[in-house]
Amino acid sequence: MPPFDLWAVVPAAGIGKRMGTKVPKQYLTLCGSPVIEHTLRRLLSHPRINAVTVVVGQVDEWWPGVPSGAHTRRVDGGAERCHSVLNGLKSLLKAGAKPSDRVLVHDAVRPCLRRADIDKLIEAVDDYEGGGLLGLPVRDTMKRVDSSCRVEQTIPRNQLWHALTPQMFPLAVLHDVMGAAISAGRLVTDEAQAMELAGYHPKMVEGHPDNLKITQKNDIELAALYLKAQVNQCE
Ligand code: C5P
Repeated sequence: MPPFDLWAVVPAAGIGKRMGTKVPKQYLTLCGSPVIEHTLRRLLSHPRINAVTVVVGQVDEWWPGVPSGAHTRRVDGGAERCHSVLNGLKSLLKAGAKPSDRVLVHDAVRPCLRRADIDKLIEAVDDYEGGGLLGLPVRDTMKRVDSSCRVEQTIPRNQLWHALTPQMFPLAVLHDVMGAAISAGRLVTDEAQAMELAGYHPKMVEGHPDNLKITQKNDIELAALYLKAQVNQCE
């Protein structure tokens, strides 16, 4: 028997300001399907995940056309990613998920997530109260620049990681720390940050580098290459 029930929340209420396309990036076509369709398939096919809550914009003309939508619960999003995630957590608790259950939060715009990475995260975090996240160690030399893009400083990279998703935490703990962060005016950009602000130390778990976040137009081409390289995900 697994020690806890596991749910997933997928924030998908962004409007893709950085991408500059009319269609939000989670609905762009990737290998014949919307980006979010790939993402949801990865989560819905995982045997440990009970159900997926998808957080979409209040006005969203694309979501109803997503086939996986039939197997998910839909919740309204908020102004920033953190508000959307909190809405998803609230609705899970309201729908009867237990406070001690675990939740995986995963960006809709990360369609190349590998089953092996989900397994690795679940195994590493297990019942650790501080939770954890997938990440990648920084490889390049890191520079801080000023507002004119002139280098000010080199940042030592030996303890720097890129924070990816999914991120996994005890449901009620995450709900409470996200609420507290937002109430304090901290618009956290990931769940781990809300945990850190509350004094927790989430575990960093090295993920596969192909778990990219679709952010710019040419990321779609790169994601297609990654999917092709992962066994026949792209016809
Ligand atoms: O904009 P960013 O790349 O950080 O978005 C990460 C994820 O958060 C995307 O899947 C996006 O749809 C979602 N998001 C959200 N609600 C917002 C803003 C972003 O669910 N208000």
